[in-house]
Parts: sequence; C-alpha cells; structure tokens
Amino acid sequence: MRKRVFGSIFLTALITLLLTASMLLIAVHSGLSQDMRGRLANECSYIATALQDGDRQELERIGRVYADRITLIGADGTVLYDNESDADEMENHAARPEVAAALEKGVGESSRLSSTLSEQTYYYALRLGNGMVLRVSSVANSALGALSTASPWIVLIVLVALLVAALLASWLTHVFLEPIVSLDLHAPLKNDAYDELSPLLHRMDKQNRKIKSQLNELERRQAEFDDITARMDEGLVLFSAQGDILFANRAVCALFPKDSAVGSYMTLCRDPEYIRVVEGALGGKSEHGRMEKDGRVYSLTASSVTEDGQGHAAVLFLVDITERDQAERQRQEFTANVSHELKTPLTSIMGFAEIMENGIVRPEDIGRFAGKIRTEAHRLLTLIEDIIRLSQLDEGGDPAPFEAVELAALCGTVRDRLQHKAAEHKVTLSVAGAPVTVSGQRRTLEQMIFNLADNAIAYNKPDGSVRLETGEEHGAPFVRVADTGIGIAPADQQRVFERFYRVDKSHSKMTGGTGLGLSIVKHGAALHHAEIEMQSALDEGTTITLRFPKI
Ligand code: ADP
Repeated sequence: MRKRVFGSIFLTALITLLLTASMLLIAVHSGLSQDMRGRLANECSYIATALQDGDRQELERIGRVYADRITLIGADGTVLYDNESDADEMENHAARPEVAAALEKGVGESSRLSSTLSEQTYYYALRLGNGMVLRVSSVANSALGALSTASPWIVLIVLVALLVAALLASWLTHVFLEPIVSLDLHAPLKNDAYDELSPLLHRMDKQNRKIKSQLNELERRQAEFDDITARMDEGLVLFSAQGDILFANRAVCALFPKDSAVGSYMTLCRDPEYIRVVEGALGGKSEHGRMEKDGRVYSLTASSVTEDGQGHAAVLFLVDITERDQAERQRQEFTANVSHELKTPLTSIMGFAEIMENGIVRPEDIGRFAGKIRTEAHRLLTLIEDIIRLSQLDEGGDPAPFEAVELAALCGTVRDRLQHKAAEHKVTLSVAGAPVTVSGQRRTLEQMIFNLADNAIAYNKPDGSVRLETGEEHGAPFVRVADTGIGIAPADQQRVFERFYRVDKSHSKMTGGTGLGLSIVKHGAALHHAEIEMQSALDEGTTITLRFPKI
C-alpha cells in the first residue's frame, strides 16, 4: 500500500509539474510571437510612411541600418529590393502567402519554420500606394529551438522536479498512512484516525467483540470437555484421518508411557489388537477388540468418523474390564466346581443304594449303609445351602433388613449350636469379651461367626481350644475367633477365601467341609463393610478377626 500511495502521489506531482512547464512554454512562446508580429507591423508601417516622402535611396539607407530584413516587391511579384540578398537573383514572390494577401487585401502576414525546425521567420507585408508591396521579416527561435537551446537547463529542472516530487510524495505518503499504520486494532474505537475509517473501525470493533465471545465460548467448551474426559475412568483417544493422535485423555496418558500419546497412533502402543482396531476405524469400519496390558484386560472400541472427503478420523475407547473378565471366569469355574462337588456325594449315594439294591449287603450292615447315605445326603444338603447362600450374597446380598445386632449374644448362640461338635473333637469352646452392637443382618452375621467357629473346631487338635471374643477397639466393634489348631501356611492364607479352595482336600471332606465357608464369610464381611484380619501359624493356631465400621 505504501508503494502504491507513494507511486500515485509521485506520478501526480510529476505529471502536474511537466504539464505546467509545457503550458508555460507554449504561453510564453505564443506571447513572444504576438510581440514579434506587432513589432513587424509597426516597423512596416513606419518604413512605408518614410517611403511615401522619399524615394528608393531612402529605402536603401533604411535597409542598410535596419536589423530586420526589408524587401520591396513589385505588383507582379518581382523582387525590386532586398537588404540582405541580391534582388535580381531572387525568384518571383507573388505566390508567397503574405505577399499574395497584401496584394489582394492590403496587408498580409505569415510565418515559416526553417528546415531544422529550430528557427521561425515572421513576415509582414503591406501594399504601398503605388501598388508595390513592402515586406519586413525577422527570424526568431521556434519553440523547439528554444527548448533545444535550454536543454541542459531543462534536464536539470526535470531532475530537480523529480527529486522534489519524490521527497514530496514520500512525506505525503508518511503523513497519509501514519494514522492508518498506527491504528490500535485491539481497541478500534479508541483510534483518532480519519472519519472515513470510522465505519470500518466500528465494524472491526463489532467483529473483535464477536470473536472474543466466540473464543470464550470455545475455551469454556474446551475446559468442559477436558474436565469430563479427565474424570473418565475410560481411556479416550481421537485420531486424525492421517492417524495422528489429536487428543488423549488422562486415563490414556496414565496407562501408556510418558510422551507416547503424541504423534502417530503407532507411537502409543504396538499391541497387534490395538493396531488392528485403530487401522480398521481409520479405514472406515467400527471395530472391537481386547488387549492385555500390565496384567489388566482392556476392551477396545474404535469408531470411524467421516471427514469431508479427507478420509476417516477415528475415536477409540479403552475400558478396563479386568474385574468383569475375572468375574466371568470365576462364574465359569464356579459352575464347573459346583457340578463336580455335587457329583461326588451323589455318586457315593448311588453306589451305596446299588449295593443295597443288589442284596449284597448283609442285613446287619444295612443300618451302617443307610447312615453313610444319610451323611452324604447331609453333605449334599449343606453344599446346596452354602451355594444358595453364596449366590444370594453375590447378587447384592440377602434382602433381609439391617438391624442392631449384639455380637456377644450371637457368639453365645453359635457356641450353643457347636457345643456338641466341640465335645466330639475334644475341643474347649469359650465366649469372652464385652457386648457390642453392630448394624447388620442377624442371619448372615450368625452364619459368618458359625463358619469361623466351625472351622476353628474342625481344623483343631485334640484338647485344643476355640475362643470367641467380642468387643470394641478404637471405637470399632470386632468379633474374633481364635483357635489352637493346625494353622494355615502363609501361601494359603489369602486363597482360603476363594470358593472351593481347601488346603487339604481329604481333611476338609472328613470334617464335612464344603470349601465355601470362608467365601461366605468374605462376602458377608463385604456386605457389612467389615474388614477381615487373619493371623495364622502352622501347628500353632489361627485367629480371624472381623472389624466392623465405627459406630
Ligand atoms: P471348608 O468347608 O473346607 O472348611 P472353608 O472355606 O471354610 O472350607 O475353608 C477353606 C479352607 O481353609 C479349609 O479347607 C481349610 O483347609 C482352611 N481353614 C479354614 N479355617 C481354618 C482354621 N481355623 N485352621 C486351619 N485351616 C483352616
């Protein structure tokens, strides 16, 4: 813009200067021609007046002293006298325009340019009383001649004009453009520029405010999006159509190595499933997959997003399904275990029944066989009860309401129920501690304490003891079952809470265990938000404490 403004001003100034100079030259030149003509007319009439009084000698006398050329032409055009040339050698002048006009009208004038166009001769002719024509002429520089004579000066003047025009144009450009250049575009209305710019500045101010509000809105939405995606447990990654990672939320950044969520999708992860799913979505298909990383299982769901004519962008969701996966596996294992556990006593019952049916058993042994069938059937029943109880707890708990349950009294009930079994095992069963009340399901709590005490008796040693203790520690109620039994090896201490896990299968079966007792305790504890603590040493005994939330 600066160049264009400068060029325009410079050109305008230059054209104006040159036009003015040319017109001045023409005006001066035409003024000089006018003067010259006037002077020749005056001189001609003076000489004509002088000639009327005198004769030819008078004309020659004037002609000798006179600077301009004087010619006397006869009425037929013959040159009779010329003060600069020999009249006899001059051609007939009747055809010359000024002479012809003078012969016809009395006066005539003309001017002729020299062959080089540098000089111009002015003629004035007057018809005398005797019919002859007196002509006076004078030579002067033509306009072109005057120009060429003054050419060095003209070059100098043009150069000066150029310089002046350039300086002027530069100064004017600066003056014109300064208010525009120094416009504060952030606060357009605060500018004190040209009035003509006012609509533009108002428009700009309006646009600025609009852009600012749109930016604020965008920032707000971005913050909202960041906030939501940062709180998501699921991983979210957005890919461009070229496969570059546009966005990865916090869950993804935490899962993959630092700085890997930048650049191509390949930098994030090299898992073949991940690559297949992402490439599928970039190719326009929605894909699902499953990937294992750092011991956890993730489900991958990639959707394709069509970008106008530029291929497909993609969105990838990563969801941690480790627990779901484990639960699914546990359910499958459980079904297999249940079938197996049910099959064993049923096979025994079938076996005994067949023997009795075939009459192989002696009549005196029938009672013993019937007893065995009853024991196995009881085992079956206990197992089914335990399975039902466990599945109830698994499905979100027994619908029985929570109530205030006093644990010491519950321990007393359990002791009464197990007193007979304890005596059979030659184990002393005692209840101690202070009464303490918790909020819970009475039936579930009783079963938890029963299972613990039942194990404490079953896995005890002859003349051993089991002690049920209740109380409060740091404001939190607890119930503790301690025995002096065979103990549990450290490697098994966590696993005993798994379904159907038994340290010693044959011992457990001998004691009538189902392998579900501690699983029920674990689920019951979770239902009551209680923690389980286990201390056990082989051959010394086991202590299991259930700690309930503070009242
Ligand atoms: P079970 O019906 O076989 O007793 P549990 O789930 O109650 O099943 O217990 C799982 C396993 O833990 C038992 O088989 C046993 O090996 C071990 N166990 C449980 N309680 C004790 C304990 N007090 N002393 C020693 N071992 C125990």
